[in-house]
Amino acid sequence: MKVLVTVKRVIDPYVKVRVKSDGSGVETANIKMTMNPFCEIAVEQAVRMKEAGVVTEIVVVSVGAQQSQETLRTAMAMGADRGILVDAGVDVEPLAVAKLLKAIIAKENPQLVITGKQAIDDDSNQTGQMISALMGWPQATFISTITVNGDTADVTREIDGGLEKLTIKLPAVVTSDLRLNEPRYVTLPNIMKAKKKPMEVIKPDALGVDVTPRLKVLKVQEPPSRSAGVKVADVKELVAKLKNEARVI
Ligand code: AMP
Repeated sequence: MKVLVTVKRVIDPYVKVRVKSDGSGVETANIKMTMNPFCEIAVEQAVRMKEAGVVTEIVVVSVGAQQSQETLRTAMAMGADRGILVDAGVDVEPLAVAKLLKAIIAKENPQLVITGKQAIDDDSNQTGQMISALMGWPQATFISTITVNGDTADVTREIDGGLEKLTIKLPAVVTSDLRLNEPRYVTLPNIMKAKKKPMEVIKPDALGVDVTPRLKVLKVQEPPSRSAGVKVADVKELVAKLKNEARVI
């Protein structure tokens, strides 16, 4: 079974994000970038399924600029077999990303597509769902377990009310939640091996997709800074403050 995993290059989650002085977005120049953590979990899942003999080939795909090749190489160092960069040169909105990925999926014909549940930069939480709709395939979002049985997969979804168990028909799209697995660290020998794995670079035009933005960013600004807290002497004072100052009880 072939699996296609989508990976996005994002600002490292441990970096303090700074807003550009003109309010047009956040600084990305000279900032440490990394693979979106939920995409790492998606890659790890595909690799574990390959190690278990369920998956025969893992293709990783990223839509972005040339630098996203680094992200694809990391995915290959984790165990993916080959990479495809859709070189859009700029950030692309989720609908255009989903259309580009749809075109790749139609070419590659995987049985399973795994995306992260959300990208930690724009928190859109849309791409997996859009791919599923565009392909007309079943979807299971926010999964924390998956077992493939022939042409179906049993999944557990993390939902507000608890855990939901579903059986979905393949081919399907699933999106990875935090508890699906703990991604491995890439080792130096595997980084070296990944350099020799095949990487294809495709332009959006070749896929017949218009990536012109439909959304306009009006302004990006820092959240208001929080005022300092106060220490209270005892429970009585706390209750009085909650009642008379915060007025929450
Ligand atoms: P989002 O819908 O933007 O929150 O992203 C959800 C998931 O879709 C991410 O974890 C990725 O797996 C995938 N995705 C989003 N944008 C891209 C991109 N530019 N290239 C590859 N995959 C992407």
